Amino acid sequence: TYVVTDACIRCKYMDCVEVCPVDCFYEGENMLAINPNECIDCGVCEPECPAEAILPDTESGLEKWLELNSTFSTQWPNV
Ligand code: SF4
Repeated sequence: TYVVTDACIRCKYMDCVEVCPVDCFYEGENMLAINPNECIDCGVCEPECPAEAILPDTESGLEKWLELNSTFSTQWPNV
């Protein structure tokens, strides 16, 4: 799965949302989150993000963000 990290905060450029084929982005007040259960790992959102806030969870050190994306995506509205 891909995860949204803190570089998204106050950016919310939203082009990632437009390209996602499975609509698995969720929107909070200051940032977006990806539902890891819905993400199909296609990777098309990653290059769309001007803040480079979207990363594959295979990169090290993203455990906290994976957890937060999982939690936030159940609490925030789908976009
Ligand atoms: Fe959506 Fe693909 Fe990005 Fe996952 S990797 S959030 S399925 S665009």
